[in-house]
Amino acid sequence: ETPQQKPPLSIRLCAPRGFCAGVDRAIQIVELALEKYGRPVYVRHEIVHNKFVVDGLKAKGAVFVEELEEIPAADAGRPVIFSAHGVPKAVPEDARTRNMFYLDATCPLVSKVHKEAEIHFRRGREILLIGHQGHPEVIGTMGQLPEGIVSLIETEDDARRYVPRSDLPLAYITQTTLSVDDTAGIVAVLQERFPEIVAPHKEDICYATTNRQEAVKHVAPGVDAMIVVGAPNSSNSQRLREVAERAGCGTAVLIQRADDIDWQDFEGIGSLGLTAGASAPETLVEEIIDAFAGRFDVTVETVRTAEETISFNLPRELRDPVPPAQ
Ligand code: SF4
Repeated sequence: ETPQQKPPLSIRLCAPRGFCAGVDRAIQIVELALEKYGRPVYVRHEIVHNKFVVDGLKAKGAVFVEELEEIPAADAGRPVIFSAHGVPKAVPEDARTRNMFYLDATCPLVSKVHKEAEIHFRRGREILLIGHQGHPEVIGTMGQLPEGIVSLIETEDDARRYVPRSDLPLAYITQTTLSVDDTAGIVAVLQERFPEIVAPHKEDICYATTNRQEAVKHVAPGVDAMIVVGAPNSSNSQRLREVAERAGCGTAVLIQRADDIDWQDFEGIGSLGLTAGASAPETLVEEIIDAFAGRFDVTVETVRTAEETISFNLPRELRDPVPPAQ
């Protein structure tokens, strides 16, 4: 096929997309720890849910484990980093018992939800967490309080059927990476049933999740197909794919890398929406654009629906003690 024969394809690139401030910070923590303390540096759970990121850090000397006990006794003095999703309270406690040096890469917006849970508990409220069972963030948030204290609500049905376990006032908190629309539906059911339920002061669904979903809602109805770059275990990426589908885009797929593209899905399309989950690096987006450019005559247009300026401080141990030269 000669280049002249390539069919035209208009790629509409969602903005914001890709890395959020929490993911950026978590990756920096691992990189800086490797620079400062040398290898190996242990990381409990995938630092962010992206294989490409994890493999890149492995190559630099990071060792990924699921639990602290997997760290060999001989390496107990090496730093261990907790992933951006947050950990149950028992994990840092366990690390202290084992005399481990740990760095916490929990996103500050997840820590904020942890604090809300504790405040509700102290104020004697019964706590509902809206989220997805088994996700590490949900395990971490529930694990801020003794087992059985926080009740998980996954669906509107759960909200309809929920039977309070006490006479205490109710409060709800949420996972940070949920579907904005689904969560609004669940909250509406709870508020109708329990008008006094205490809500978060400011949304628990984070700015990055909200902005990425907003951009997809804007782009998806006007394109023939939509690709979300992200991992199958990335909650926010999965939600982006669902948002695209619900916004009326017939073909909406989650793809990790250009190699995963099933070209049959994109036969005969004239326009493609493209976004990336909060844990997917921009190089993977570029790789996918390049793959399409091999088969189509592509034009790329960015569709921006929000500006993002947020960034988070690094843990004290990793901040540069020497101020940069003026
Ligand atoms: Fe933090 Fe939101 Fe990014 Fe999760 S998606 S790491 S909560 S900014």
